[in-house]
Amino acid sequence: MKVPLLVNDFLDRGETVFAERVAVVDEPDCADNLGSVTYAELARRVRALQAGLDELGVDPGERVAVVSPNAARLLELFYAVPGSGRVLVPINFRLRSEEVEYIVEHSGASVLLVDPTLDDDLGTVTAKHRLLLGEQSDEALLRFVREPQRWAGADEDATATINYTSGTTARPKGVQITHRNIWVNSTTFGWHAGVGDRDVYLHTLPMFHANGWGMLYTACAMGVPQIVLRKVDGPEILRRVDRHGVTFMCAAPAVVNAVLDAGKEHDGPIPGAGRATRVICAGAPPPSKTIERIESELGWEFIQIYGLTETSPFLTMNRRKKEWDDLPLADAAQKLVRAGAPAIGVRLAISDAGEVLARSNVVLEGYWQQPDATADALDGGWFHTGDGGSLDDEGYLTISDRKKDVIITGGENVSSIEVEDCLYSLEGVAECAVIGVPDEKWGETIKAVVVPAPGASLDEATVIAHCKKRMAGYKSPTSVDFVEAIPRTATGKVQKFKLREPFWAGRDRQVN
Ligand code: AMP
Repeated sequence: MKVPLLVNDFLDRGETVFAERVAVVDEPDCADNLGSVTYAELARRVRALQAGLDELGVDPGERVAVVSPNAARLLELFYAVPGSGRVLVPINFRLRSEEVEYIVEHSGASVLLVDPTLDDDLGTVTAKHRLLLGEQSDEALLRFVREPQRWAGADEDATATINYTSGTTARPKGVQITHRNIWVNSTTFGWHAGVGDRDVYLHTLPMFHANGWGMLYTACAMGVPQIVLRKVDGPEILRRVDRHGVTFMCAAPAVVNAVLDAGKEHDGPIPGAGRATRVICAGAPPPSKTIERIESELGWEFIQIYGLTETSPFLTMNRRKKEWDDLPLADAAQKLVRAGAPAIGVRLAISDAGEVLARSNVVLEGYWQQPDATADALDGGWFHTGDGGSLDDEGYLTISDRKKDVIITGGENVSSIEVEDCLYSLEGVAECAVIGVPDEKWGETIKAVVVPAPGASLDEATVIAHCKKRMAGYKSPTSVDFVEAIPRTATGKVQKFKLREPFWAGRDRQVN
């Protein structure tokens, strides 16, 4: 028998087995928040949303875009929209209005839902149906008395979400993730991370980012209460761990650093210490010192994973093995600093050029309406990650370099080309190149190297202000170097490695 693997399975199980248990605790500091919602109530609201989309005439396959920081109403859409055969497009809420507009248009979304706090900034972005999340969307979409239509032709290979991600092109690409991708990702990730019904999950990761790494589906199937966190704040994370008995969270190294800083200031025992609280970290390679500090200062377990939006994202995991139990902490941290061993069903290989290649059921269907980019990414039957790395004799992957021209700052990808495009629109910029340089807080931060046009009088503040006005703040350079010429190859290609060299000298990894 073959039964399609659909995202619906996760919430169905949550509702059947854990109906009366709290499913979601919404952000309390947010007007109009939903408070605590049980699994039964969550499932009821999800069905009501689906019935509302039916009434609005949104067909299966149509795209529903949403821009919102973490919120219970955002979370519901991850179940309601794909669960009825529609396609969810969760958009990075830090993007500026032109960037959001591009994604809404490119995805062809007929419905756009916007968090009220973003309404002013995104005032010009619209779609056939535009609704503010909250009272307005509840009124327009929640139809409790109507049964949602059955999704005829439900198919595990149907696209469930399109997640736009910055890559090697100036414009972000839409990663098509299928129901099957999500199913395999969420079950294997949950299994490897040991997620069970006694867990409590804190949403430190933005839900839009690779569907919260798929953990928002895993959690449902296991009846895990999900605590919504709208804004990353170290002390607040510790308070929530305490208040809700949180047992695990997923986070980029920059978020982990914020928690470590808060831990230093914290009065009394660290919440969650000694009761198997774990933090699952990815997005950039964390320094081994950070790993040691999580275990020694917080008393939490550190787990590393590696993956990309294009791989749903789960490819590898590095979690302390029984064999390492007796290792001194510094030696265990040396083991844990690697990206990890392939998850079940994942095959990894390193190309002759040193690029990490992957084969698995979590690899994307394709880039939305970009067949050439899809063919390149899947060339030869392997997914090309654009990361440079190596596999050691234990089978563990280490990421050491980036083949793609992408900077990762605070866990978010930034396309260098996009920033360079923006710089070129500033009068007085004759030539420019953008590189990532190491940064204590963000892992990497963006540096612009600019050759001013003859006679132009540019300064750092003007260049940064220009970018901030046109792009999301995290994409703007934080420093600018003015130079006379940019090093190029004989064929005119910018030699970024030469620009990066002085900032990365003496490091064994060229990414941070
Ligand atoms: P995204 O698609 O935004 O999730 O970004 C994926 C990229 O993040 C990968 O291609 C890597 O460059 C980087 N990344 C993710 N996890 C790790 C890790 N554990 N170590 C090093 N880099 C990572």
